[in-house]
Amino acid sequence: IDFGYKQVGKEEKQGLVANVFNSVAKKYDVMNDVMSFGIHRLWKRYTIDCSGVRAGMKVLDIAGGTGDLTEQFSRRVGPKGEVVLADINQAMLDVGRDKLRNRGIVANVDYVQANAEELPFADDTFDIITIAFGLRNVTDKQKALESMFRVLKPGGRLLVLEFSKPVQPMLSQAYDFYSFNVLPKMGQLIAGDADSYQYLAESIRMHPDQETLKGMMEQAGYENVTFDNLTGGIVALHRGFKF
Ligand code: SAM
Repeated sequence: IDFGYKQVGKEEKQGLVANVFNSVAKKYDVMNDVMSFGIHRLWKRYTIDCSGVRAGMKVLDIAGGTGDLTEQFSRRVGPKGEVVLADINQAMLDVGRDKLRNRGIVANVDYVQANAEELPFADDTFDIITIAFGLRNVTDKQKALESMFRVLKPGGRLLVLEFSKPVQPMLSQAYDFYSFNVLPKMGQLIAGDADSYQYLAESIRMHPDQETLKGMMEQAGYENVTFDNLTGGIVALHRGFKF
């Protein structure tokens, strides 16, 4: 397995990812706003707009962390719907649950500690599955895409929001400079943790580009797979259906 520039084993990667999110959980939301200049909110809003969510639906927000998407889904599925906020990391789930409860979101959200590679749900359970800035942290991405396919209802859709490959070479260079030089320093300044943000930059560079991820989704069984580049391809939203 590639982990940044050095090779590490599967167990080791899972341990490193756990450390990163244990370490950043409490500062996660503020760091997201600072590092993306608030733009992550627009990327997430676009994801909700493309999800086809309606009242009464059942939604899984896997690698949902502190629950930004879950909050929006919860409002839209209404009292007859249900949203499952699932994450491998209990510290992130705890921060998410406290935040959502403080905002009065209680009735239609469940919290489940789960690994995206082996989802603990029955076949054909969810109308919509989202994984936002999560797939890149998963050790076996293909296995996770297959696991999500299994628990998706026929007619349901998966949305993958993730860092991707900037389309313009100039933007790509500026972005590399930002990720490898500015980000770790900001992580040190705000969260007192440069290493986690160094990991972030490295994991973004290692993540499959737009076409590769599309191919992986097709291989897992998704149909009509498309993607939209957001902010010049810094981020992409992939969509696929289970028919
Ligand atoms: N979706 C949220 C958002 O967009 O703000 C959180 C994204 S955060 C960058 C990545 C999350 O992925 C972390 O909360 C981490 O614990 C979770 N994660 C990492 N590996 C995972 C796995 N194998 N299964 C489930 N969640 C995982």
